[in-house]
Amino acid sequence: MNPCTLCPRQCKVRRDKGQTGFCCIGDTPIVSSVGPHFGEESVLVGRGGSGTIFFAGCNLGCVFCQNFDISHHRHGRQMTTGQLAQSMLELQSYGCSNINFVTPTHVIPAIAAAIELARENGLTLPTVYNTGGYDSVETLRLLEGLVDIYMPDMKYSDPKVAEELSAAPDYPQINREAVKEMHRQVGDLKTEKGLATRGLLVRHLVLPENMAGSFEIIDFLAEKISRKTTINVMDQYRPCYKASSHPAINRRPTLEEFSSVGQYATQKGLNVLD
Ligand code: SF4
Repeated sequence: MNPCTLCPRQCKVRRDKGQTGFCCIGDTPIVSSVGPHFGEESVLVGRGGSGTIFFAGCNLGCVFCQNFDISHHRHGRQMTTGQLAQSMLELQSYGCSNINFVTPTHVIPAIAAAIELARENGLTLPTVYNTGGYDSVETLRLLEGLVDIYMPDMKYSDPKVAEELSAAPDYPQINREAVKEMHRQVGDLKTEKGLATRGLLVRHLVLPENMAGSFEIIDFLAEKISRKTTINVMDQYRPCYKASSHPAINRRPTLEEFSSVGQYATQKGLNVLD
């Protein structure tokens, strides 16, 4: 982190000296909320909800950010490693099904230390790394053995689109390498009694006009990761934040645009969540 090369942005700022890079977060994580969440995939929710810890800040600059109040306005409170570990134990005591770190990439060292501390103090729930998918392989290796379920976005196939919509032209290449590393660590998704225990769960948000390059992403998963990959093809895109200045994405996807992606993934043999 000092200088910071945690993520592919490679800002090289001294976060311990108050400098901030693209993610705008210093060396202490800012947590915007902690609590059971019932809106995640059913394999994560169960009876007690997914125990989410939402981090403020983000290393992507998506013009259509669906969480822009959290990610870009950085509302929340700073948390030490001890406080993060305590939050995890509280979520476990509420009966949550897992601990779900949302937008974690820019605070991986704090998360890794907090998981170790929480486990020493009785945490037994699976941990979920819920990321926009712009993660470097080297940093992901710090999480080996600490993360049980990787849930990355796969947002784009085309570097030009990734540049226009997320200020990250290398996203497709970086994202694919990251997903390979995640799958190497945890394998295909496994469930017990309907709840995820370990593995890879890919999220893909369908954009209008196939701006996401959905079919190439599915081909990649089927051919380079595993035909048993679990994918959530998501239909909830709506123009938010600055999306109105990008005409191609200034509308919701049609039903046909959405359903053709799910059908293609099914034809390829992937495990498509309902
Ligand atoms: S984690 Fe933040 S400061 Fe570090 S390289 Fe990434 S965007 Fe830059």
